[in-house]
Amino acid sequence: MRKTKIIGAEGLLRWRHPQRGLIPPADFIPLLEETGLIVNVGEWVIRQACKDFLAAELLGLRVSVNVSGVQFNDADFLAQVTELIIEESLPAKALELELTENIVINDPLATAEILNTLHGLGMRIAIDDFGTGYSSLAYLKSLPLDVLKIDQSFIRDLTDGHGNRAIVEASISLGKKLGLEIVAEGVETLAQLEILRQLDCEYAQGYYISKPVPKAEFIDLVIAMNGLSETST
Ligand code: MN
Repeated sequence: MRKTKIIGAEGLLRWRHPQRGLIPPADFIPLLEETGLIVNVGEWVIRQACKDFLAAELLGLRVSVNVSGVQFNDADFLAQVTELIIEESLPAKALELELTENIVINDPLATAEILNTLHGLGMRIAIDDFGTGYSSLAYLKSLPLDVLKIDQSFIRDLTDGHGNRAIVEASISLGKKLGLEIVAEGVETLAQLEILRQLDCEYAQGYYISKPVPKAEFIDLVIAMNGLSETST
């Protein structure tokens, strides 16, 4: 049996409302985008993710953060991210920014310029929910990408028939040939994980590995799975 290790975490935003309790992101993120508040909240999320990682002294791991299209298209985005990396003194290589296909193909030239700068600083760039956006594959070769995250909808039905397996297999092969790391999203069962292993997918996330947890629980999980001394990949 291959040894499984934690190599990083994805920062997820939750809102605990004093009266209404836990509000799901699907209920408030669209509102943040509509009002433009996502620009400030998004910055706070990246900053908080950097802080949590420094405080946890888990620098061998990486932290990935979802970037909204509204946030990415804001004129100050690049300056915002580069400044906060310096202010929080997080090594840029520990930070991974997740963008969906629709964001990166919206304005390919402007996107390439921003991503080249961030990538040049050492940040990692991931394509999130791969396979669900407008499927222009041209951006895959023209942008400085590091990671393809295969959308959970393909993983969910991986065991049901041949269609999804074919898409996942082709995505893995395409990504690997382009020199990208492949992450399967939304892995919920051992059966899915076993198929992904057969298909040579090296990285996975989802409830089968861990549900979203607060920082302290995450640290316990890292110690349990990776051991105390060895936290790097
Ligand atoms: Mn994501």
